Amino acid sequence: MKPAHFDYLRPATLDEALALLAERGEDARVIAGGQSLVAMMNLRFARPAALIDINRIAGLDQHWQDGSVLRIGALARHAALAASPLVRELAPLMAAAYPHVAHHAIRNRGTLAGNLCHADPASEMPAVLLALDGELRLRSVRGERIVKAADFFIGPYTTAAQADELLVEVAIPARSVGHGFEEMSIRQGDFALTLVASTLGIRGGRIVSATLAYAGVDAHAIRCPQAESILVGEPPSDAVFERAASAAAASITPASDQHADAEYRLDLIRTLTPRALRSAAATAPAG
Ligand SMILES: Cc1cc2nc3c(=O)[nH]c(=O)nc-3n(C[C@H](O)[C@H](O)[C@H](O)COP(=O)(O)OP(=O)(O)OC[C@H]3O[C@@H](n4cnc5c(N)ncnc54)[C@H](O)[C@@H]3O)c2cc1C
Repeated sequence: MKPAHFDYLRPATLDEALALLAERGEDARVIAGGQSLVAMMNLRFARPAALIDINRIAGLDQHWQDGSVLRIGALARHAALAASPLVRELAPLMAAAYPHVAHHAIRNRGTLAGNLCHADPASEMPAVLLALDGELRLRSVRGERIVKAADFFIGPYTTAAQADELLVEVAIPARSVGHGFEEMSIRQGDFALTLVASTLGIRGGRIVSATLAYAGVDAHAIRCPQAESILVGEPPSDAVFERAASAAAASITPASDQHADAEYRLDLIRTLTPRALRSAAATAPAG
């Protein structure tokens, strides 16, 4: 199928883009890599009256270190981030997850910001951002606000961003933690049936911080505080990782769909969680 008619607008500056978003409101959609939006338009799930193409706006494709924070601009492509030594150094969990995101051709065009705004419930990067306590900088003609990842994903394909807001930057604090990422999908590069993204901070032989985020098991990517709290204060061990996995399975209620039933997704939570935690323990800096 082909998309319905739309106006194509190509601002040269961020201010122009924000003015167009303010003017066209709910009628308009930003287009970045187009890897999700164009498919939605072709299927007529999305029928924006106007597309605001941000690809000509200079400077948005950068990512850089700002003190102990990794900052990623709105047009940073998946492929650039997947290959980035800075991402490997400051956000190794993101680097570990990237091979699971789609395929080379899609990663060449698709952006991290577009991926987060699309908010697919089975997508990798929302869970990664949750596990890393990331933040999103949203800008409109009304001003700017910072939204924590924990408050950004609010439903399937739904975020806290308003229609006139542009996600201009993603910020990830670099932490002295280990990381683990595990995913089951039908084929390499598919969206996840279930995935787990985790970090562990270990000091003096005990877990001092733990994050566990899941996708593919709820309406949007989620953290699991019930499982995280079991880990903190304990020495890392298979036994405590299994207990955390059981707590996660007990507190998450996945849905069944054409790809997998709920019971299989619970099995995946029980199986993948200890694997991710073992990787996180193995990569945690000594302290
Ligand atoms: C065959 C295929 C397989 C895929 N597999 C996976 C996968 O396994 N895992 C995965 O995570 N993704 C997967 N994707 C999606 C891919 O990661 C997309 O690149 C990504 O979801 C969207 O990024 P984009 O830059 O292309 O965004 P676009 O398609 O341009 O936009 C997506 C949405 O975000 C909005 N948007 C974009 N940028 C901004 C911004 N800066 N501010 C506000 N709103 C914005 C748009 O208006 C639109 O609603 C797959 C895609 C395809 C086609």
